[in-house]
Amino acid sequence: MTTPSHKALVPFVSVDNMMRLVHSIGIETMLRDLAEYVEVDFKRWELFDKTPRVASHSEVGVIELMPTSDGEAYGFKYVNGHPKNTSEGLQTVTAFGLLADVYTGYPVLLTEMTMLTALRTAATSAMVAKYLAPKGSDTMAMIGNGAQSEFQTLAMKAICGLKTVRLFDKDPAATEKCARNLAAAGLKVVRCSTPEEAIEGAQILTTCTADKQNATILTDNMVGAGVHINAIGGDCPGKTELAAGILTRADVFVEFPPQTRVEGEIQQMPEDFAVTELWQVILGQKPGRRDDKQITLFDSVGFAIEDFSALRYIRDRIKDTEFFIDLDMLADPDDPRDLFGMLQRSQS
Ligand code: NAD
Repeated sequence: MTTPSHKALVPFVSVDNMMRLVHSIGIETMLRDLAEYVEVDFKRWELFDKTPRVASHSEVGVIELMPTSDGEAYGFKYVNGHPKNTSEGLQTVTAFGLLADVYTGYPVLLTEMTMLTALRTAATSAMVAKYLAPKGSDTMAMIGNGAQSEFQTLAMKAICGLKTVRLFDKDPAATEKCARNLAAAGLKVVRCSTPEEAIEGAQILTTCTADKQNATILTDNMVGAGVHINAIGGDCPGKTELAAGILTRADVFVEFPPQTRVEGEIQQMPEDFAVTELWQVILGQKPGRRDDKQITLFDSVGFAIEDFSALRYIRDRIKDTEFFIDLDMLADPDDPRDLFGMLQRSQS
């Protein structure tokens, strides 16, 4: 009997193995590493094949595919966004992703990306805050204390030196959960009962709520001079978090304008509303923060290159570890033209 060829096995990182990998590296180290990988890819921005993500909307949520390539590797992420899921005991955001070799087209990694999305989103936020937040920022308001919130907080600690986080969620149980999870993080954690209380003394305002509507998590009068806003939750048409007045007072920084104009806070603004692309700030081609009075706003929606960076990082880090299994997901007969023969031989 001929054994079917298994020469094209694909490493697969399960949720369990991703969690083991995070623990073995240490979450703060991993957030710093991921921020570096994202920063490296933002510096190579121009060579990437870029397209806004392909979104399939329904009344309850969205399912998206996020592809990109640097010419050597190709990556995509499958991700959903279903704000109503939490009330049904399910995650708002789940994801998995794949990295492939451009030369052969063969996959080289399949991985869970629900954990990895939370990590890469947080790492990107903190990498951006490093460029835009006021120097010496040590206090952040964290509005929306759901699945992403601890990751966002820890990344700001690991990368920007955050010392205090001020939590607010419309659901006090979410704030309790977040405070509990951060109790041993080496941060001062303050539970707040209104968004106004949460922003007191904070130089960084993070909004990370989930609601399928044009919400007003921050009103215009809540945003004082000099702050940095890290707006994470508005990432889909009809789903925003900030009052439009804030956008006219702030300098707005974005990932990929064609995607952000449809999905980000700036969907509220005219099509020619001025924004700065982050990769240009990182390369020193455009100014980031200019002075202490300026309001900077990262209108984050999450772009495919950040997932590509995260996939590259996982591919590099799992080598010589036990944190993956090999998947037989690609039929690869010894004689490439004899796919049918491979099927026939497998019967005997
Ligand atoms: P989640 O459902 O786990 O948490 C959201 C929290 O927001 C909940 O605790 C909810 O009670 C709270 N909330 C809702 N409305 C609020 C309001 N008006 N005031 C205060 N709190 C409110 O969701 P998550 O996984 O933490 O994701 C949060 C948001 O971030 C989602 O909208 C998601 O789509 C978005 N997201 C963006 C990116 C990105 O790259 N920009 C990546 C991942 C997730």
